[in-house]
Amino acid sequence: MQSYENKFTNGEITVTYEPKKCIHAQACAKGLSDVFRTTVIPWIDLDAAETEQVIEQIQKCPSGALSFCYNNKRVLVK
Ligand code: SF4
Repeated sequence: MQSYENKFTNGEITVTYEPKKCIHAQACAKGLSDVFRTTVIPWIDLDAAETEQVIEQIQKCPSGALSFCYNNKRVLVK
């Protein structure tokens, strides 16, 4: 699901892509092609793999163009 350009979320994590940093080595597309797609827009489909797999692949990005954060900051209201 895409919230706005270059920011994607599956409810659990939010993934950010910074095109200026990307060196197009395609490590992401080769490693997890169902999520990081080169020919489809939006190009990141976070529903295509488990969150842990996506995080693992993001951590292999050589340029730092891909990053993520958890969306789990829930506040309990009594
Ligand atoms: S792994 Fe990182 S640097 Fe390589 S294509 Fe994907 S986003 Fe760009």
